[in-house]
Amino acid sequence: PVVLSQTKFVHRDSLKYPFEERGLQFGDGVYEVIRIYQGEYYLLEEHVDRLFRSLKAIKIKIPYSKVEITNLLLDLLKRNKVTEDGKVYLQVTRGSAARDHAFPEHTTANIYAYITKQHRNIENIQHGVCAITQADIRWEKCFIKSLNLLPNVMAKQVAKEAGCYEAILHKNGRVTECSSSNVYLVKDGSIYTHPTTENILHGCVRMAVERFVKNLEIPFIEKAFTLDDIDEADELFLTSSTSEVLPIIQVDGKMIADGQPGPISNKLQKAYEQDANIHTEV
Ligand code: PLP
Repeated sequence: PVVLSQTKFVHRDSLKYPFEERGLQFGDGVYEVIRIYQGEYYLLEEHVDRLFRSLKAIKIKIPYSKVEITNLLLDLLKRNKVTEDGKVYLQVTRGSAARDHAFPEHTTANIYAYITKQHRNIENIQHGVCAITQADIRWEKCFIKSLNLLPNVMAKQVAKEAGCYEAILHKNGRVTECSSSNVYLVKDGSIYTHPTTENILHGCVRMAVERFVKNLEIPFIEKAFTLDDIDEADELFLTSSTSEVLPIIQVDGKMIADGQPGPISNKLQKAYEQDANIHTEV
């Protein structure tokens, strides 16, 4: 595997991360995780667009256009001779400088990207996963895909210790999203999910789902559902680049409906596979 560092391609093991790197010391940067199926990026344009939105929001300037970043990512894929399923992690930080909270004056952004293998978790998709609920204690700009992930890390660990896959986050009982995915509730044939305000990340898979529901003529209502609504839900599911469209069959130890993945979650997963041109059987 090779790493993209500015315009250099080097082996990832030879990369030295400076101690006074603002990503390391302040979490002063943003990132993207882009899925690769059979050696091709999925939703690349959506991810690059979101990267630039995040960069603008935290005032990091990079000497590349969207087209140039896209071409560098495509080049990275080619150089790694990727033909299987995987993902790229791309990180942009404000750069390296003597430690000071305020932006350094003469520092350029550091850009890193590397590719790893990522197999599809077909068992989870087929059988669904369980989740717990947690208060959303994050800041008010969650639309930025920031490197500051401590609340997400803490929430995911609580989920893991409960033997669950995800933590569903809520503000005063209104569900925002999960620790590393977007979440949706199905009731009487309609999908409900938090609107894309500054309080959640606008997921690239969610953008794809917004396309799928139009074709499938499934009502998509951008209105936060509540913890009480979960008790009455017909289906619950989450989306992310690593999880795809994943049914949630149990929340805080209580089954959702009959505890089986529901028809709308299944339809959207099928639509996802078609859209991503995936041939693996589920
Ligand atoms: N919400 C959060 C907090 C995330 O970290 C992620 C992805 O990592 C998502 C939502 C889903 O985003 P995407 O569909 O772009 O992977």
